[in-house]
Amino acid sequence: APETVSVSAAVADAIRSVELDPTVATVGSHSYPNVNGTIQLDAAIVEVSPGRHRCGAVMALEGYPGAIDAAFAVMESCQHRILVGSGAKAFLESEGFHPSVAPIPTALERPVAVLPEEDAGRPQPQPGDDHDTVGIIAVRNGVLSVGCSTSGKRAKLSGRVGDSPIFGSGLYAEPGVGGAVATGDGDKICSFPLTFSAVSLM
Ligand code: ASP
Repeated sequence: APETVSVSAAVADAIRSVELDPTVATVGSHSYPNVNGTIQLDAAIVEVSPGRHRCGAVMALEGYPGAIDAAFAVMESCQHRILVGSGAKAFLESEGFHPSVAPIPTALERPVAVLPEEDAGRPQPQPGDDHDTVGIIAVRNGVLSVGCSTSGKRAKLSGRVGDSPIFGSGLYAEPGVGGAVATGDGDKICSFPLTFSAVSLM
């Protein structure tokens, strides 16, 4: 990456490319919707270096093709660390983000029980196969960044949030030690400080 790109911007770039990938059904713009047929995305980013800790997260974000840019914007320019749903959307609009490339109709119209024709060529989801997370960990010049993004679980209840955007559960970083990011059943993981524990054991 060029010198001008921060390690967190590089992490966000990598995650965004997965969010926009139409073959990925569990992250970003083409992911499985919730039980109401709406895509709600969760994402978070943490950046640490000795003496400095920065982070941002969004939960249940609707109307955008991805959520990592929103988490990044919260980290960079919000006085809070976590924004949810319509509040996250309002903040993004105030920051000049426009959901102009979203919602993506084919994704939002995607039925919960039956995959649309565009998915016909794709392997049908198997039990336990209907959720995933993209997680990226990078370090550069002593700055460690961990980011993640997910649409949670296929046919989740509206407003459901798993481990991914919860600091210490879905992702964690400690300067001079390391970082961790989780994937798996967020309804189980979010009950525990899983990634905090993993980094603590490093
Ligand atoms: N942990 C994610 C969630 O439940 C999904 C996954 O990583 O499989 O929100």
